Amino acid sequence: GSTLEIENLHVEIEGNKILKGVDLTIKGGEFHAIMGPNGTGKSTLASAIMGHPSFEITEGNVYLDGKDVLAMEVDERARAGLFLGMQYPSEISGVTTSDFLRSSINSRREEGDEISLMKFIKEMDQALDYLDIDKNMAQRYLNEGFSGGEKKRNEILQLMLLKPEMAILDEIDSGLDIDALKVVSKGINKLRDDQFGCLIITHYQRLLNYITPDKVHVMMQGRIVKTGGPDLAKRLESEGYDWIKEEQGIEE
Ligand code: ADP
Ligand code: MG
Ligand code: MG
Repeated sequence: GSTLEIENLHVEIEGNKILKGVDLTIKGGEFHAIMGPNGTGKSTLASAIMGHPSFEITEGNVYLDGKDVLAMEVDERARAGLFLGMQYPSEISGVTTSDFLRSSINSRREEGDEISLMKFIKEMDQALDYLDIDKNMAQRYLNEGFSGGEKKRNEILQLMLLKPEMAILDEIDSGLDIDALKVVSKGINKLRDDQFGCLIITHYQRLLNYITPDKVHVMMQGRIVKTGGPDLAKRLESEGYDWIKEEQGIEE
């Protein structure tokens, strides 16, 4: 498994300081969750790691398996084994889910070692079944006209087929009804082994009833201010964030 190391990360958007020194290490095989109130920089962390051009990294480092992620081109980051599920995934007109998946899989393989069409279709069908996704989705343009729930299921489909080393999932649970939430969780849990690492960003504790993280981090005002186990998420559900704000002397 690969280790993701985030060191003292500072990120600005249009001159506003959003992340103010984030430190986080996720080893292969570990599931971590980041929780926190809205607007604290959770999505900024995900976008900065994936190289979104609006986010300026002013300080700090990100390494995957010791390799400098921030020095890589965006597509190189994916080839290195990083996967990012966006809070708001974009639509890709003219490219079907199936074509997108196959070319993504092949971009991580050597020339001459591409996945055969038969093997790809078999794997895709199995994953579609497992995730209870309508087979027609594979032939639709990626995310175009997809409902919120379909986008999230599609993301898990990508995750299951691409088998990245490390995934960052931003609000994969937002807008899902309980059945969709269970399917999405089932897919993520299926990937759990001693190699695959995952960072689950969520505003709500709900998802963590289905996916048990090894560690839970709380982000406030652009920093991780508290780290604990699954019990920390439970406490946040019952008591909210105020007690942490008090503990940290954070005023709003
Ligand atoms: P969270 O995911 O924790 O809800 P975000 O990372 O989305 O928080 O946002 C953190 C802060 O950065 C917020 O104050 C938000 O308004 C600001 N922000 C996020 N994206 C942009 C953007 N593209 N342009 C300007 N400000 C942004
Ligand atoms: Mg938000
Ligand atoms: Mg967000």
